[in-house]
Amino acid sequence: MQIWEQLIADTVQLGGTLVFIKEQVPADMSQWLAPFKNSSNCDLPVVTRSVQDLLSRKFQTKSQDLIFFFESQKTFISSLNSVLQGQRILLADGSAIQGIDFAWKEASLSQWISSLKAVEAYLASAKPLHENLSTQEAPCLFLDRDDVVVRNVPYNNDPAKVELMPGAVELINQAHADGFWVALVTNQSGLGRGRISWLEYKGVHQQMLQLLAAQGCWIDECVWASFIENEAVIEGRLFASLRKPRAGMFQLVHDKLRTRMADSFMVGDSATDLIAAHSAGVKHLHLFNSEKFAKEEATLREYQKNHPQFQFHVLKNLSDLKLGN
Ligand SMILES: [Mg+2]
Repeated sequence: MQIWEQLIADTVQLGGTLVFIKEQVPADMSQWLAPFKNSSNCDLPVVTRSVQDLLSRKFQTKSQDLIFFFESQKTFISSLNSVLQGQRILLADGSAIQGIDFAWKEASLSQWISSLKAVEAYLASAKPLHENLSTQEAPCLFLDRDDVVVRNVPYNNDPAKVELMPGAVELINQAHADGFWVALVTNQSGLGRGRISWLEYKGVHQQMLQLLAAQGCWIDECVWASFIENEAVIEGRLFASLRKPRAGMFQLVHDKLRTRMADSFMVGDSATDLIAAHSAGVKHLHLFNSEKFAKEEATLREYQKNHPQFQFHVLKNLSDLKLGN
């Protein structure tokens, strides 16, 4: 399958929707949408929404959605930046533009129709990727990885360099004792850039889990985002919606663990950690003291000017955090 066909198939399998925008569509738009109505093998979930639906948040995209733009819609894509969570794909004959995660260059109607057929054939024989379990909702302690759970070593590929941060074990254990889920949400652009390999990343990850386990401690769910911008590496361009400050990783954890966001906590040492958590509905936001604290705090103060409802706390030591009431 072509990469865009895989993107469509993954979207459907992850429970996402194919989203089209109403305004400034090409003249033959009805022909682009026709295959969905005539689908006989399986139904691809598709909706068409207006810019206003999105801006007013009457309709909200999910991280697993795939949003299509035509070249004629280029003018307003950037205005939707802050409200779109899903991946954005441009059907165009030109080059990629800002705000777009994936360009399907030289997309033609005939290619589109045959691609949808290929996706349908694939899905007809595919198994669901995961099924949501219906369990009781519980709050979650979301943690950034580098300089929160483990000491930051840029692009670390060496398990021997993994060192737990002071107080991390106590905080995680306290969260579990208080009935919280604990989830790790970490941007790992080193994967997307090819600076570290998947096997190296896994080695470092397992070492972190082993160090925690040695002290009777565990993390319930770990999500990482390898996405990077402006790099010609296909792997690096996948799952843009996961990378903080977008809320994708939080939504994935929420879908899987049924987290109650309004009672959940985020601890991160970057402004983007807290902004992503806020977008996902996490109420209690804590900026942890690290080397870059002054810069990150300044970024958040600036962010607050346009987002007065955004509130955060400063956390000097992990052991200072009080969960629950
Ligand atoms: Mg960090």
